[in-house]
Amino acid sequence: MRTAEIRQRWLDYFASKDHAIVPSVPLISPDPSILFTIAGMVPFIPYILGTQDAPWPRVASVQKCIRTNDIENVGRTTRHGTYFQMMGNFSFGDYFKTGAIELAWEFLTGAQESGGLGLDGDRLWVTIWNEDAESADALVRVGVDPRHIVRLTREEIFWDTGQPGPAGPCAEWHYDRGPEFGPEAEGGTVDPGGDRYLEIWNLVFDQFVRGEGRGKDYPLLGELERKAIDTGAGLERIAYLLQGKNNLYEIDEVFPVIERAAELSGRRYGADDEDDVRLRVIGDHVRSSLMLIGDGVTPSNEGRGYVLRRLVRRTVRSMRLLGVEEAALPELLPISRDLMSLSYPEVASDFDRIAQVAYGEEDAFLRTLTAGTTIFEGTVTKAKAAAGDAGVVLSGEQAFALHDTYGFPIDLTLEMAAEQGVSVDEQAFRTLMQAQRDRARADALAKKTGHADTSAYQQLHQSLSGEHGAPVRFVGYTDT
Ligand code: ATP
Ligand code: MG
Ligand code: MG
Ligand code: MG
Repeated sequence: MRTAEIRQRWLDYFASKDHAIVPSVPLISPDPSILFTIAGMVPFIPYILGTQDAPWPRVASVQKCIRTNDIENVGRTTRHGTYFQMMGNFSFGDYFKTGAIELAWEFLTGAQESGGLGLDGDRLWVTIWNEDAESADALVRVGVDPRHIVRLTREEIFWDTGQPGPAGPCAEWHYDRGPEFGPEAEGGTVDPGGDRYLEIWNLVFDQFVRGEGRGKDYPLLGELERKAIDTGAGLERIAYLLQGKNNLYEIDEVFPVIERAAELSGRRYGADDEDDVRLRVIGDHVRSSLMLIGDGVTPSNEGRGYVLRRLVRRTVRSMRLLGVEEAALPELLPISRDLMSLSYPEVASDFDRIAQVAYGEEDAFLRTLTAGTTIFEGTVTKAKAAAGDAGVVLSGEQAFALHDTYGFPIDLTLEMAAEQGVSVDEQAFRTLMQAQRDRARADALAKKTGHADTSAYQQLHQSLSGEHGAPVRFVGYTDT
């Protein structure tokens, strides 16, 4: 089943259960406290917190999401994309735990002919709060094997906003991929980081009013007057199960990009673990870049633009590590466009603009890499000449200059140095980086407080005017 079809099934199923269907909001979060839309609930926060009345009692969506906290996981776990789609159903004062559990079970295990996904119910495991008797009852009643209900503590399974207000337990659905992926869960643990039990759907029960406290150590003051349901199911995770793949990078919406990248580099996906990670990173990041630029993000040195810049640069770096030094996005981005435009036609209609931004950023970084590589070679030659017989070490200052002046990332310096049998004084580099960060912070503070550090101007003035305090005359208007 194609990913786009699963997405449509979700919407059709919840429409048939009287949910209003709302479109995804952009990746640029409508909530100003976060950079990106990180979950399906983001556009509904005021209804979940109860600060506004929801226009519908029940609603469903498939929300585009970006999670930068997962960037290092990409390609290494089977289940983390920087871009992914979260399918959600929500109830604001309408159905609660039992209703949400019945819907989840029916959609996951219902026959494909009648609109469900046809997953094997015997492979489903659910983690719940150990005091949540209502969920336990409902799960057994719908057909979940009682041995597959795992009871967790409040620390492990509670949702809250970090402040007094609504809070409540979750019920998280996991799919058992089978014994070839690890040992069977024992003693009531479903290893959420492991490969065997894949978390596919989180039902959040917005049930209690909580008081003050650190972490999960707060009193529950009572039940909310109007309880809410907030759920999120990972479309790509479900797609990889239904498509019989090993991970979410191998699904129909991503894999053709990986195949093309492999072809361009002359490598074969599946032949080498590290190459595979790089290819999966490329598959993921190309798609994230496409969707981010599509939603109006442009590369820059801070905020959202910096995230996009990192995604493009990591793509370029990964291609380079696979041996491709030329621009690859003109080959890869159109493939991603063709895959994603099934569900998001705007990435096709707006492609010229998207491509211009993406290719421009790739070209700029390739130029940086070329210039940086020349400087790097020069630096290494000098270091080698100075070292004689001793081991060649690139100093912290040299690594820092490559980074600071030529935009040459430290991981690249480390890698290229290693290739040449040269080591890098990474500790000294980190110290210089920290000093630079401290200076930037002091500058930002100075800007805020108005106490700028003007000592450099005073020093310049003194050195120009000499010891005798001769006046300094500015001649820049008439002379160069
Ligand atoms: P995990 O523990 O696997 O990192 P999570 O607990 O952080 O997932 P939730 O915040 O509960 O995820 O989000 C709801 C659902 O969204 C998850 O059950 C999963 O199916 C999906 N999901 C979350 N993060 C990602 C991601 N980075 N890529 C793809 N799907 C994701
Ligand atoms: Mg996570
Ligand atoms: Mg989790
Ligand atoms: Mg979760």
